[in-house]
Amino acid sequence: ASTESADARGFVALGRVVAGVVHDFNNMLSVIQGNAELLAEQFAQGTEQRTAAETIAATADVAAGVVRHLMTVARPEPGIPPRTDPNLLLKRLDRLVRAIVGARVRVTIAPTLDAGFAKVAAAEFTQIVLNLTTNARDAMPTGGTLTVRTAVQAIPADRPGWPARVPAGMFVVLTVIDTGTGMDEATLHRAFDPYFTTKPGTGTGIGLMAVRDIVTQAGGHIEIQTEVDWGTQVRVYLPKA
Ligand code: ADP
Repeated sequence: ASTESADARGFVALGRVVAGVVHDFNNMLSVIQGNAELLAEQFAQGTEQRTAAETIAATADVAAGVVRHLMTVARPEPGIPPRTDPNLLLKRLDRLVRAIVGARVRVTIAPTLDAGFAKVAAAEFTQIVLNLTTNARDAMPTGGTLTVRTAVQAIPADRPGWPARVPAGMFVVLTVIDTGTGMDEATLHRAFDPYFTTKPGTGTGIGLMAVRDIVTQAGGHIEIQTEVDWGTQVRVYLPKA
């Protein structure tokens, strides 16, 4: 238990660091964009230099948009008990999810007709969606299909594999499916370990740990079904509000 709370504390501290980084990036991207625009004006239309400077400015603008969007979506609402309409949040995240996975990945977002509310803060639901879609993207370097679904499901107490600490009841289920590399048994076994990553240089190994921390704190449960060269399905169960 002591390890888990240490992880959770580390995660809260990390959240603050990330918020600071997002803020700084927003400022730095404005500087890049502004200066690239100034630079572009120094060159005649159609020259290679002008096109390059314009590309820098436009890309910085896109990046700033993504970061700003992330800040709006993830802003906590103090005083309001945490609950999130998953379908509404997925609608807000639609553009960002598509930007993350890129043009080579086909995206299907399939909300259920009436998901109600999940007992989790919007910022945390956002983190879950972004972490899982980033992993899906990484698993499909040459393209594939990403499916994000919501559902409402009644979980009985005797459900096979269901942890005893999670009471039976109604759950909002978020499912993220990719047609990527999948995980072998050894990888799956360690996937939630802090700092475990199979992506040297780019991975942090905290994505799934963070997702599981959020889900556990919210009184929910996470399941992964995966097959090498076939893909991965991650199901997140959050108590229905
Ligand atoms: P990171 O993505 O930074 O490596 P994570 O904790 O999110 O950290 O994931 C840990 C590891 O689990 C990944 O390095 C990868 O090997 C595996 N993994 C996670 N999600 C997927 C997925 N959708 N498909 C294949 N492997 C995955």
